[in-house]
Amino acid sequence: MRAFVYNAQPSRVVFGAGSLEHLEREVQLLGANRALVLCTPEQQPLAEDIAKRLGSRAAGIFPKAVMHVPVETASAAIDEAKRMKADCAIAIGGGSTTGLGKAIALQSSLPILAIPTTYAGSEMTPIWGITENGLKKTGRDARVLPRTVIYDPALTVSLPVGLSVTSGMNAIAHAAEGLYAQDSNPVMDLMAEEGIRALAASLPMVRVNPNDIAARSDALYGAWLCGIVLGNVGMALHHKLCHTLGGTLNLPHAEVHTVVLPHAIAFNAQAAPQAMQKIARALHRDDAALGLYRLAKDNGALVALRDIGMKEEDIARVAQIAAQNPYWNPRPVNAEAEPALRELLQRAWEGSTP
Ligand code: NAD
Repeated sequence: MRAFVYNAQPSRVVFGAGSLEHLEREVQLLGANRALVLCTPEQQPLAEDIAKRLGSRAAGIFPKAVMHVPVETASAAIDEAKRMKADCAIAIGGGSTTGLGKAIALQSSLPILAIPTTYAGSEMTPIWGITENGLKKTGRDARVLPRTVIYDPALTVSLPVGLSVTSGMNAIAHAAEGLYAQDSNPVMDLMAEEGIRALAASLPMVRVNPNDIAARSDALYGAWLCGIVLGNVGMALHHKLCHTLGGTLNLPHAEVHTVVLPHAIAFNAQAAPQAMQKIARALHRDDAALGLYRLAKDNGALVALRDIGMKEEDIARVAQIAAQNPYWNPRPVNAEAEPALRELLQRAWEGSTP
């Protein structure tokens, strides 16, 4: 057994179809009496339902969460929380809404209760991100980790099939990179493999029947595990490439992860054979990278960067940025790796097999 450091992240998880019914109890357990409910404009009806369930414990709704937490939105939400004398924030939605909750917590230490409705996993991490003048700043802070998370698979039934698949691939990306993280540990390895297994088994069923609550439950369970991995160990080249593609070219988050993952895994395959074995085993495939590619493609996801808005001439720039300031990676990424990164991105751009 290798040496490792394991640092548990304290959060309370309430899981199960219909578990939203425990909302009031969970708010009470936080000692809160005035909850500010956060959501995207599209999910406002859901936030209104939350406020109704809470009755006098709801202080109001802030329905303006958007992708990447612009500093102006964060400031407006913080002002609203102060004005309403909120003593907790409830973030119902995907990573964008959870991200807004985290921005509030970072400033005010307000406890966050998260109710995730995608598979992005932000609710399990102490990682925050705020975008100012087009630049996304990120950091880690224990205060932003949601204190309580209610995972109710019934709330994910409305997630469109396309986004369910790409969001699920986004979750798998956390687990896959966690398996070769420099600071990984055996507990995270177990969670990562099980998370990939649960998502790989359930996404095809969700695709066939988005209302299949058993499949939705397995997918959300997998997403939970993958989110824990993201919150506990460092991410590598795949996440660096996706942050570069998302941040520099403004490509859609879950879709970028879906396209890049098989290629980043293929890039690292020889340097991380044990991780590859675990990923392949979890996918029930012979090859990790190809298995991920097939999982995405067979379930209708786009597998080419050109199909999600990237121009071919941006390949060199993205490769350069990714090589300039790399995250730790099992296969070293430096200036010399730039041609190999360009090749990786070229294949991802074309949508070729990894
Ligand atoms: P999102 O939160 O932006 O949601 C995408 C869209 O789907 C939104 O319009 C939302 O309203 C809608 N939606 C969400 N759930 C739905 C449902 N059940 N039914 C119908 N519509 C629904 O997307 P995301 O992929 O969850 O989050 C992406 C963002 O989260 C990115 O900004 C990313 O950087 C961030 N993120 C952060 C972390 C972290 O640890 N800090 C982790 C993962 C993602």
